[in-house]
Amino acid sequence: MARSKQPTPPTATAGSTFPSAEAVDIAQLVEDLDGMLTRLRLGAIREQLDGLLEEAARRQLNLREALAWLCAAEVASKEQRRLSMAMTIAHFPFVRTLEGFEFEAQPSIDPAKIRDLATCRWIANGDNVVLLGPPGVGKTHLEVALGREAVSRGYTVQFTTAMELLGSLVKGQQQGSLEMRLAQYSKPKLLIVDELGYLPLEPQAGYLFFQLISRRYEQGSVLISSNRAVEEWDEVFGDQVVASAILDRLLHHSHVVTIRGDSYRLREKRRSGLFRPQAGGSSSSGVGGTPPPTPAKEA
Ligand code: ADP
Ligand code: MG
Repeated sequence: MARSKQPTPPTATAGSTFPSAEAVDIAQLVEDLDGMLTRLRLGAIREQLDGLLEEAARRQLNLREALAWLCAAEVASKEQRRLSMAMTIAHFPFVRTLEGFEFEAQPSIDPAKIRDLATCRWIANGDNVVLLGPPGVGKTHLEVALGREAVSRGYTVQFTTAMELLGSLVKGQQQGSLEMRLAQYSKPKLLIVDELGYLPLEPQAGYLFFQLISRRYEQGSVLISSNRAVEEWDEVFGDQVVASAILDRLLHHSHVVTIRGDSYRLREKRRSGLFRPQAGGSSSSGVGGTPPPTPAKEA
């Protein structure tokens, strides 16, 4: 009888055990192996089978060891795929890591504090992190790096900017889809909101943001960065009552990291003499740090 094209591995019926090796056609099983691996969604084993078996033979692994070796390859490949999918879903604007962060360049940051945040315990507890500092001091870098740590530990993460988020909520309110959008931004375990305070917000944005923060309160974490001190958030949201309601929830269980220092971006330029630091103390508004540089006068 001609063999069917479809893989037809022996199937155990309910209550029965798998047939003994003598009772099955092993040659047929080997022929069907690809199909069975596909059916079991063991793509990594299927694709690397020859290499994995050769390596197992070379190392003289016994059957149990060889099976564990094959499973490990599949688990590693699935984990890799999960990671890269979760990183894509998170929508990070670029790749930045904690290893790539020069702590010496930003002495106002306590490396131990950031390393502690990198353990993601705060996310497990539903706490928030507020990163404050002038432009260029590494707020977005740290957000992305901490966000990647969270993804690698299995948390769902979404990165967005304050403009994008609040723009979306305002649009939702206008189009009758606010509830859907609030639900969408409430879903990820960690929501990263970058650059609050850089651009003026619509009048209703503060109240919409308050609704989101209330929903996420003690449920999911928010990592938010701003160039404006929290005392100035009244101005940012254009409403003192709304701003204090937002801060009340945001800061209740929170870690605040205030960065005071020079823009990393302008360091090189400053070194090359393109810019010189402004004379005088700290800036009148915003968070600490050196005031914006002024172009150096031509000699
Ligand atoms: P901010 O969000 O505070 O305006 P960014 O995080 O965007 O600043 O930093 C600007 C650029 O400088 C980014 O490319 C970032 O990776 C880099 N950068 C900032 N601070 C550091 C640092 N301490 N070590 C390494 N790179 C840094
Ligand atoms: Mg930034």
